[in-house]
Amino acid sequence: MEFETLCLHADNNRKDEWGTLSMPVCQSATFVHKGVEVPSDYSYSRLSNPTRRHLEKTVAALEGGADAFAFSSGMTAITVAMMLLKPGDHVIATDDLYGGALRLFNNVCACNGIDFDFTDTSDTEAVKALIKPNTRLFYVETPSNPLMQVTDIREIAGLAHEAGALLYVDNTFLTPYYQKPLSLGADIVLHSGTKYLGGHNDTLAGFVVTKTKELADRILYCSKTIGGQLAPFDAFLIERGIKTLPVRMDRISENARKIAEYLLTEPAVKKVYYVGLEGTKGNGIVKRQAAGFGGMISIEVADADLAKQILARVKVFQYAESLGGVDSLITYPMLQTHADVPKEERDARGINDRFLRISVGIENIKDLTEDLRQAIHGEV
Ligand SMILES: *Cc1c(COP(=O)(O)O)cnc(C)c1O
Repeated sequence: MEFETLCLHADNNRKDEWGTLSMPVCQSATFVHKGVEVPSDYSYSRLSNPTRRHLEKTVAALEGGADAFAFSSGMTAITVAMMLLKPGDHVIATDDLYGGALRLFNNVCACNGIDFDFTDTSDTEAVKALIKPNTRLFYVETPSNPLMQVTDIREIAGLAHEAGALLYVDNTFLTPYYQKPLSLGADIVLHSGTKYLGGHNDTLAGFVVTKTKELADRILYCSKTIGGQLAPFDAFLIERGIKTLPVRMDRISENARKIAEYLLTEPAVKKVYYVGLEGTKGNGIVKRQAAGFGGMISIEVADADLAKQILARVKVFQYAESLGGVDSLITYPMLQTHADVPKEERDARGINDRFLRISVGIENIKDLTEDLRQAIHGEV
């Protein structure tokens, strides 16, 4: 089946006595045994739940993985995946990471004896220089958040495997509709399902997708031991979101390209970061390893006052955290997602008081560009 069809029918051969088309919310913590020593698929919902399992099979099929595991948030998924490491292990990670992942690595994992080096993973030579005998994991976000750096997944996978390490790729920004890291050599794909997979800014969710059955068994062991699984109703909502993932992504990407092109014409917008712009750094790699550019744009405007005015004046765009939903959002990384990153480090990377991040939604493009225009110029 092709991707759009898999979004609806990946786990089609399930049957229940009512013939339900839509997978029902199976709101049960426990399941009655069929008999003593009679095997059954379900026993307790921390281990497995029919609604969640249906969703996991769908996501595994979309990413081309051996299996997938659904958690209560993206951060839970990342935390569980990091449990495959042990004290003394070394990790090389993208420096421009989702703020929550940086906080987890620096303030929790590092305290538990895991050693991190952060670098621009779009620079393969820089990555190579950091490899140590105890390097066990390469952790990549591409395009990265919020600077849209692009990492060549195949190249980094090669380095990782030569070093005897695993490669994890956070695929939240492009989704499997556009990018399939497992097919490019990654071992595990992570998602904040809260974003494009769910797609409606109404549910938190996260996924770990493994390339092999062996890794799936290790993740399942950690997951059933730790907990944090996605609840049945939330699994139902994410499943429903996934049915429209391709049509949403098409519209979002088309809108984003037009908005990026419009922003380039505004003198007060000094920099536009969008991987779909011809000639921008990383555009060539995205074209090679992905089938689309997605809906995330960052901009640097002329001064901090203008940045604040834009946030205050937008009417269609909502000034809110998060991304990947049908509603267009705009956020101020300095105050929100990257508030915990030290100021010197933020400034050095360009996440300053003039820097805004936009998540483009599915509204009419005229309303979106008009909204940004009036927010930049002020209504006359
Ligand atoms: C939001 C996000 C996360 C964290 O996911 P939650 O669902 O908010 O816990 C991780 N990675 C990326 C790229 C994200 O955008």
